[in-house]
Amino acid sequence: MAANGNITPNNYVAPNLEWLVCILASWCDGQSVLPDYLGLDSDQFKQLIDTYFQDCNVPEHAPSGSKLDFSRMLEKEDLVNLLKKYCRPDKPGINWMIDIIVAGCLGSDHLWQDLGLWSRSQLSAMLQYNFPELAAKNDQNMKWKKFLYKQLCEAEGLYLCRAPSCQVCIDYPKCYGPED
Ligand code: SF4
Repeated sequence: MAANGNITPNNYVAPNLEWLVCILASWCDGQSVLPDYLGLDSDQFKQLIDTYFQDCNVPEHAPSGSKLDFSRMLEKEDLVNLLKKYCRPDKPGINWMIDIIVAGCLGSDHLWQDLGLWSRSQLSAMLQYNFPELAAKNDQNMKWKKFLYKQLCEAEGLYLCRAPSCQVCIDYPKCYGPED
C-alpha cells in the first residue's frame, strides 16, 4: 500500500489504480518530479481525486515544490499522440496515465523515478498493461524514457543517433544501462 500509509482508493478495481496509488503516495511524500496536480490540468486532477481518492486528504500543489516547464517541452503533443495511438482505451484511468507519463518525461531521472513509481519493473508492467504493442517493441530492454523518445524520432524519420546501430554505439550505456 502507500508509502505514507494513508492513500487508499475508493474503488480498487484495476491495475492502473494500484499504480496511481503509488504515484500519488510518492507525490504526496515529495518523492517525484510531478508538479502541481500531478501534471494534469486542474479539472482532470479533481476528476481523478473525486473518482478514486475522495476520502483522502490530497493536496493540489506538489509537496516537493516541483515546477515543470512544459513550454520547453516541444515534443509534448507528439508524446501524447504516440501514447494515445498505442493505448488500450478501455483501461480505466488511461487518459490520466498518459498525461502523467508525459509530465514524468520532463524530469531528469529514470522515468519510473520521475513518476514516483516504486521500481522499474512496476513501470514496465504499467506500460505493458496500457500500451502492450508499444511496450513489446522494446525487446532490447532500452531505458523507457530513451525508448519513448526514440519512437518519436523514428516516427518523424529523424535519425539523430551517432552510430548505425546500437550495438556499435558509444552511447549504448546511456540508452541501455541499468535503470534501477
Ligand atoms: S545506443 Fe546509440 S544508436 Fe542506439 S538509440 Fe542510443 S544513441 Fe541511438
